[in-house]
Amino acid sequence: MSTRYDVDREQLAEQLAGEPRYRLDQVWQGLYTQLATPDELTSLPKALRARLDEELPLALHQEIRRMSDGGDTVKYLWQLDDGNRIETVLMLYPDRVTVCVSSQAGCAMDCGFCATGQAGFKRHLTVGEIVEQVARAAREAKDMGRRLANVVFMGMGEPLANETAVWGAIERIHGDIGLSARHLTVSTIGIVPGIRSLAARPLPVNLAVSLHAANDELRNTLVPMNKRYPLEQLMNACADYLAVKGRRISFEWALIEGVNDRDSDAFELAALCKRFRLAAHVNLIPLNPTPGWPTIGSSPKRVQQFRDLLESRGVNATVRRNRGTDIDAACGQLAAGQPVEIRTPRGTSGSPR
Ligand code: SAH
Repeated sequence: MSTRYDVDREQLAEQLAGEPRYRLDQVWQGLYTQLATPDELTSLPKALRARLDEELPLALHQEIRRMSDGGDTVKYLWQLDDGNRIETVLMLYPDRVTVCVSSQAGCAMDCGFCATGQAGFKRHLTVGEIVEQVARAAREAKDMGRRLANVVFMGMGEPLANETAVWGAIERIHGDIGLSARHLTVSTIGIVPGIRSLAARPLPVNLAVSLHAANDELRNTLVPMNKRYPLEQLMNACADYLAVKGRRISFEWALIEGVNDRDSDAFELAALCKRFRLAAHVNLIPLNPTPGWPTIGSSPKRVQQFRDLLESRGVNATVRRNRGTDIDAACGQLAAGQPVEIRTPRGTSGSPR
């Protein structure tokens, strides 16, 4: 049985065969614009509401909902129909509301410092499972009197390893929920063919690349996928993305004490960014703790110094404000309650905790 946000308009039309034609718009708008459940669509006959509720079940079953930052960060742990679990994080800022969505249950990229990578890959999410994360977060924001405007594909999984479903979801989020493509950001570890597919898609969504190292030797140890798509290929794909879309590219950099926060790392990164001029933006993330990687993040002072070093070389850099660290909702901490393997960092000089 298809879930509520998996069916497209044509499939919904089939489901509504025998009903007056205007019902299709009513139901579709109810789900995507009003973010309502069928039983809330009181303009529909009661029997139809009951049928839709039954025939179009939700895909995400809420297991845990936790808040931190005084209610400004909400983490959802959902159970899927097959028992797999994923997480979604809703973040309320004074000027905007953002949701961080998962694209896979688990992740196969195996980055040692990331809790999702530590837990391993389970499966790809469907279009509906991705869209529903956005719809339900948008509904929650609406109930708080706020409007969800930004979606970042920075939750569990590697979005460009599931590009087809991610794209399907983006089209739905843009075309039906009505968010601007400029407010949608896909973050990747650097799957070059995925970046090229995304470049060929019509909407100007933002690209963020999890860089963490600016030379292949170090990056190979932090991001195993770098061996397949080394930096030169990756940077060329980013340059081509920029040329096609004209959107600023973000480089994410989780600062790990003694590993990638040295002066030389900042200078190498600045050199890598040079070809992009002002279109490159570095997002510094002080490393968040995860169970499987006994390495610590750079101190706030070092984070600031690293930023200043980048700025001194003409590179735009901001420090990402940490959200939800206390509820394991911050970058790299999403593991959906999976047990993770405890291991020592590979080929790094990270200090044990
Ligand atoms: N797989 C995609 C999407 C996940 S985004 C990607 O890698 O881009 C999650 C972001 O958090 C990535 O930039 C990731 O590198 C970063 N991250 C992972 N573990 C982290 C940790 N322990 N502390 C801080 N950031 C981390």
